Amino acid sequence: MDIHTKSVQIPDVAWPQNSVVPPLYQTAAYAYHSLEQADRVFRGEEEGYTYTRGGNPTTKALAQLIADMEDAPAGVIAASGMGAVAAAILALQPTPGPVYVAREIYGGTAGLARRILDPLGYPFTWIDTHNLGTVEQALSTTGPGIVVLESMSNPLGRVCPVDEVIRVAQQLNSRVVVDNTFATPYHARPLAWGADLVVHSVTKFIGGHSDLILGAVAGPEELIQKVSQVIDLVGMTPDPFASWLAFRGARTMALRMERASANALALAEALVQIPQIEEVSYPGLTRHPDHGHAKRLLENGYGAILALRVARGREGAERLARSLKLVPFVPSLGDVMTTISHPVVASHRELTPDEQEAVLIDPSVLRVSVGIENAADLIRDFAQAAASVDHA
Ligand code: PLP
Repeated sequence: MDIHTKSVQIPDVAWPQNSVVPPLYQTAAYAYHSLEQADRVFRGEEEGYTYTRGGNPTTKALAQLIADMEDAPAGVIAASGMGAVAAAILALQPTPGPVYVAREIYGGTAGLARRILDPLGYPFTWIDTHNLGTVEQALSTTGPGIVVLESMSNPLGRVCPVDEVIRVAQQLNSRVVVDNTFATPYHARPLAWGADLVVHSVTKFIGGHSDLILGAVAGPEELIQKVSQVIDLVGMTPDPFASWLAFRGARTMALRMERASANALALAEALVQIPQIEEVSYPGLTRHPDHGHAKRLLENGYGAILALRVARGREGAERLARSLKLVPFVPSLGDVMTTISHPVVASHRELTPDEQEAVLIDPSVLRVSVGIENAADLIRDFAQAAASVDHA
């Protein structure tokens, strides 16, 4: 079934009165008439819920919908994208072991590995996922562990040979978590490439309206049970209302991505003509260094994020961002409206200047999350804003 069709189906989760959308079960716990029945539910012998930290029907409906989109047997929701990344790692690696993090990655994920996991005894190593030889060398030297990478990287839209990295890692007895936040299931389904688990910041394109913080993990049933246990016992459980909102958003994700990725391509093609923009990084452009990998691995286009290198460094970037009339500065992404962010100031401030330099992030870089507006309006706005850079 195509994702546009899948996204609007009623998930196979029981709730009363045959409502067409999941009711909002805004409850902390569930009442029982007998100890015996509660005991059966706790033991998993009878279907039901006991306490929302461990499960909630509204949240279950969202998990099911996202799992369906990822063609995954099972899914679970966490209170945030970071919660999803952390729970996936801890479920796959319950006792300390190496964590290998792709150099091109969201700063928060690097921060989790460096500041939280490494001090707990999970040695943190950067890997260059564009260079299979170095991945193989790192994993052979330091030993089996967890590899964390993004199917499309934050912020430059780098696409490494993800399927090959997964193969190399698994041959060396490591397991792989792929963050599919940027690509979304509309463009990529990393489980089909062999990933052990796929994670999302649902906050972004799946939620789609900047009104909630949530994460998701999808994968095989037996692993998702382990992830669910981490989420329950560490307390990364989402609030049911956020799940309810995200379910509503998720049903239009494919439609929004179709429009936003077409807009992103049109905007990228227009921005390469503008002299004040020195570089446009978008994997859909044939000149992007990863266009070949992107073309081979992605479907339905190339996503809704592009990054710009603006003339005159940070001052130029600031001038351009401030001169946009339709596009606010928002340190997030994935909204229906186009937003702009500055990786050095926001998403990648965790990285040292050297680490930023290694992945070509500098103060002249702006990240654009393209929305569903009219493309010509966006192009006009960027053109007038770029003109202001001359006066920086
Ligand atoms: N993964 C990626 C690629 C992100 O960009 C982000 C946040 O920006 C996260 C994970 C973390 O998600 P959240 O903010 O929902 O915790």
